[in-house]
Amino acid sequence: MSPREVTTPEELAEEGPVELSLRPQRLAEFIGQQKVKDSLRIYIDAALSRREPLDHTLFFGPPGLGKTTLAELIARELGVNIRTTSGPALEKPGDLVGTLTNMRDGDILFIDEIHRLRPVIEEFLYPAMEDYKIDIRLSEGPKAQTITMSIEKFTLIGATTRLGMLTPPMRARFGIEQRLNYYPSEDLELIVHRTAEVLKVAIVVEGAAEIARRSRGTPRIANRLLRRVRDYAQVKSNGTITRDVANEALQMLDVDQFGLDDMDSRILKSIIEKFDGGPVGINTIAAAVAEDASTIEEVYEPFLVQNGFLQRTPRGRVATSTAYRHFGYTPPSDPNQPSLF
Ligand code: ADP
Repeated sequence: MSPREVTTPEELAEEGPVELSLRPQRLAEFIGQQKVKDSLRIYIDAALSRREPLDHTLFFGPPGLGKTTLAELIARELGVNIRTTSGPALEKPGDLVGTLTNMRDGDILFIDEIHRLRPVIEEFLYPAMEDYKIDIRLSEGPKAQTITMSIEKFTLIGATTRLGMLTPPMRARFGIEQRLNYYPSEDLELIVHRTAEVLKVAIVVEGAAEIARRSRGTPRIANRLLRRVRDYAQVKSNGTITRDVANEALQMLDVDQFGLDDMDSRILKSIIEKFDGGPVGINTIAAAVAEDASTIEEVYEPFLVQNGFLQRTPRGRVATSTAYRHFGYTPPSDPNQPSLF
């Protein structure tokens, strides 16, 4: 596993089955995000008591924070079926016809990366979401015949890492919008303990704290680091994860004490070293570190901004004095340093 892979918040190909086994089964087991949970509990109970489907619901926030998990929990709490797909996987409206016509009253359609839906699919979904009707084309071409078909009342749950990229008409059709934030260390610690229990790993409180602190506020990363540290503990010690074992293992994996990974460091260092600390535009940074600009904006930047390493200004990105100190540089306007003039 490369250092990049250790701390990427995206799911890795081989992780699917493991993640599935780690997903909480009830809303009450979902750790943290209390505000989101409280709101959802109310909406779910109200829908159940009115015997109506839940309003269309949109989750947004960085990858790995639990959007898919929440969609599945909602289905379980409501006692309905859930069908899962994603924006890029849908090529034409026909891809959804079978799913939508087979839905039963109150069932859920979950669309991950909903900001990446093609316009034709969005157009197709609007009447489905509003009036529970779909237009089916019977033939191709400009004079194509269409028929309108009624479908059962369903709930669309959308997830996106980029709220700003969702089209306004699509966004307006969601009655419930919930933002997921990075988890504080205390919550990640609980998640690490819970995962350790599921995986039957022995871990002490300090070991869990160490893993939590370095997980970029992201449960998916916390769970992954725990699995890697477990391997280390089994080979290099007696299998129990202590603080020292966690520390050594994470050092070996190049995860630093704030959870910054190789790409985080490259982004910050290039702003400091090549662009005098900024401001510098996102596309210039992307070129300097050879990474896609939208991945930087979506995956790396939110964490760096929230943790005070990076500032977004109208003129571009600026490295903060925390970032300078983290890499052993003197910040340019550090009040503790004597001025040259
Ligand atoms: P997203 O859809 O936002 O990318 P997922 O729902 O796939 O994230 O969650 C990623 C992993 O993290 C899953 O294995 C899930 O079990 C775990 N996870 C996420 N949030 C929590 C939580 N609050 N409590 C426990 N485990 C969580």
